[in-house]
Amino acid sequence: MSGQPAAVPTAAIEFRGARAVYPDGTVAVDGLDLHVRAHELLVLVGPSGCGKSTTLRMVNRLVPLAAGQVLVGGQDVAAGDPVALRRRIGYVIQHAGLFPHRTVAANVGTVPTLLGWPRERVRARTAEMLELVGLPPSTYGRRYPHQLSGGEQQRVGVARALAADPPVLLMDEPFGAVDPIGRRRLQEEFWRIQRAVGTTVIFVTHDVDEAVRLGDRIVVMGHGGHPEQVTDAVTLLAHPVPGMVTDFVGAGRAARLLPITEVELGDLVAPLGGPASPGGHDDDAGPTLRLGDRLDAALAALVVRDVVDVTDGTAMVGRLTADGVLRALRRVIDRAPDDEDDEDNRNGEGRDGAGGAGR
Ligand code: ADP
Repeated sequence: MSGQPAAVPTAAIEFRGARAVYPDGTVAVDGLDLHVRAHELLVLVGPSGCGKSTTLRMVNRLVPLAAGQVLVGGQDVAAGDPVALRRRIGYVIQHAGLFPHRTVAANVGTVPTLLGWPRERVRARTAEMLELVGLPPSTYGRRYPHQLSGGEQQRVGVARALAADPPVLLMDEPFGAVDPIGRRRLQEEFWRIQRAVGTTVIFVTHDVDEAVRLGDRIVVMGHGGHPEQVTDAVTLLAHPVPGMVTDFVGAGRAARLLPITEVELGDLVAPLGGPASPGGHDDDAGPTLRLGDRLDAALAALVVRDVVDVTDGTAMVGRLTADGVLRALRRVIDRAPDDEDDEDNRNGEGRDGAGGAGR
């Protein structure tokens, strides 16, 4: 599903000294400089009240700028009509914000209809979007929002936000109200969808696990919308900047690396072409792993037995032990560059962070 982003409209987003002040005088964002690359899924994470939502809402002008600029695709969002701007920018919020008296299909087709697309094109696009988010249109198209689970409503929210092919998608705690299992599934599916469509995304969360699962890069925000560290997931976990970022990322850093680190050949023991089952348990078909499986799956397998066979999909290529998991963790920590300022926040259009492991 990946590898086609250049074909769709997408845009970089640039904050230049962006400042937001609420009418009561609260300075929510105090001079933010940040470059979001085209095609990138950038996560803003930080404690409640640090200015994440305000940052997002400056892009679609739900919050006006007191100073500075926000550029989308090189164009100043302050120029032109805010309503037209919002139709060009997808926006997904926590409780989806669906229109309760409109069917699912009508919700998804809202912006294309407002943009004057012919009915047949709206219908085709709506069906395509519902398929994309895993809701077959024949089953779900005619339902109303109250006939959906919370997770399904969020899927419709994503489908609606993407329906008019916006160059930019803003997501504010979109899965925050969904139960943990449904939330995990939504994260995985959304990650795949974003890869497929290539839309530039700014995703707000206060959940570090969600940030490291989703983000090409992650901005850890401090008070006043200050970017304390801008980096990929592995570097953030391996080398958090001392102080606020380290406190926020927390003591469970190594554990958080498990689901984003792959088993590699160098982590294995036993020579290539060894026996199919270790330790003389030839008749014991225990769990096996593949190269590229994540360390969380590897640990789950190692709970069942001390040594687990690893294949490349066809042949066994070695065996993994608990030591191998530690080796893998040390490997990614050693490989992650020390994060000397946010050099990678200056420019560049590539979407491969050092993390790049996929999810
Ligand atoms: P976050 O999304 O990180 O939780 P917000 O961007 O919502 O943070 O808020 C940043 C700061 O702005 C906080 O101090 C918050 O209390 C304040 N704030 C948010 N909305 C308003 C508002 N409508 N009026 C006044 N202050 C606000």
